[in-house]
Amino acid sequence: DRFDQLALSVAMRDNLASLGYTTPTPVQSAALPPLLEGFDLIVQAQTGGGKTAAFGIGLLERLNPTLADTQSLVLCPTRELAEQVASALRRIARAIPNVKILALCGGVPVGPQIGSLEYGAQIVVGTPGRIDDLLRKGALKLDRLRALVLDEADRMLEMGFREQLSRVIAATPEHRQTLLFSATFPEQIEALSADIQREPRRITI
Ligand code: AMP
Repeated sequence: DRFDQLALSVAMRDNLASLGYTTPTPVQSAALPPLLEGFDLIVQAQTGGGKTAAFGIGLLERLNPTLADTQSLVLCPTRELAEQVASALRRIARAIPNVKILALCGGVPVGPQIGSLEYGAQIVVGTPGRIDDLLRKGALKLDRLRALVLDEADRMLEMGFREQLSRVIAATPEHRQTLLFSATFPEQIEALSADIQREPRRITI
């Protein structure tokens, strides 16, 4: 199994090779084909299996770099995870010139984040509370969003982010691609999926 069997751009394939990614991990092999076709996905995956690159490659391949709008939003439970995800996405994004990726998390002053948003960010990675806050302040617009990723969705619910998640999702277009990643599948995750996804493909690794 190799990345050249997937429908990836030459620039993306070359960049993955330069990162030392020659073979897709199981979650990448399973998730990338439906992801690239635009399907919603519900993925049971642990950290360490390459799930970040799975959705990162998909988001970047579907991004329109000529548009400045925020096209992808990745929500993470913690600042540490959001920053890791943003760095991983920046490495993968080297395949595409001029992609702006911004990490927006709580625990730091909101003023500079509002300033950075004035320059636009095609991909935003953040924690639900701060993203909700930036939406209410009118600093972040999600009306042109094409893809939404919930990373470690079970942990976001455990941390009490359900209300913020609902408000953030309500600010996105209905016709979007929604990718839900979770290590566990309690009833609340199934309910969340039913609320926000349409006919998701289910992937269990
Ligand atoms: P993650 O599960 O997203 O936290 O990724 C775990 C680690 O696997 C990260 O250090 C990635 O850089 C690495 N990785 C992801 N995909 C591949 C791949 N196809 N080949 C080699 N390493 C990978």
